[in-house]
Amino acid sequence: MGGTAVTHLEHGVACKQGRARDAVLRPIDGRDELALCETPGGAAGRANALLKRVLVRLGPIDSVSIEHVRALVLGDREQLLFRLNALSFGPSMDVAAMCPNAECGEPLDIDVDLDVLADAASQQDDTSAAPVARLDGRAFAIRPLTGGDLECVAALAAEDPDAAAARLVETCVGEPARSGDGRLRAAVAEGLVAFDRRAETIVHATCPNCGAQAPLLVDAGALVLDRMAGKRRLLREVHIIARAYHWPEADILALPLERRRAYLDLVQDTELEE
Ligand SMILES: [Zn+2]
Repeated sequence: MGGTAVTHLEHGVACKQGRARDAVLRPIDGRDELALCETPGGAAGRANALLKRVLVRLGPIDSVSIEHVRALVLGDREQLLFRLNALSFGPSMDVAAMCPNAECGEPLDIDVDLDVLADAASQQDDTSAAPVARLDGRAFAIRPLTGGDLECVAALAAEDPDAAAARLVETCVGEPARSGDGRLRAAVAEGLVAFDRRAETIVHATCPNCGAQAPLLVDAGALVLDRMAGKRRLLREVHIIARAYHWPEADILALPLERRRAYLDLVQDTELEE
């Protein structure tokens, strides 16, 4: 933790030299947390805003814009959010779930290795194949979904998830017709995952109580956003460190998270000793 991390994206974004695929991230600091507290909108928009802040470089692009971030396909975005989480908070994270066996219902504590999730499926670099969906023996081109698409349907998804899913199918197919057709939807979903294999991340766990397999869909954006401090906690942490060390607010906010937390622990340990 502390330095930057390079992640090789499966798809990347278009740039003058071809595709920009090597992403350099820096860890989250208090300035990012404060900015995110003041960013309106849903999780998709906030995760995009966070990535824009922490992406130091994307291939030859050294000034990454929000449009570059919005152009990332879902799998690339998941990869970056898992890596950012590991870089900022450490590589292992406990995720709470429930046993899917209705007769058991045991709460599960699943230990997730974030770096493994950021690396998964990278053994094969296959960006040449264009995404297609197949229905009734006919193949047609589809456009892969991006972080920008998620941001566009976020408000609709909060009210009507089904309408948001239909809107995303329209986005992929490029026409409004037949988006309510369940078979078309399934064909598009299959085509998307074949092209963008990391678009959905499923972690497999076994219930220690009944032995049931518990496949858990994890959302990389939600995991990292949940670990960031809200405004009240952030200002409290800054207050405690400022009172002990007399450092300016801006300097404390600029500390990488793990350093800020380490100073906080030291201050609190010292207070206990006194
Ligand atoms: Zn169980």
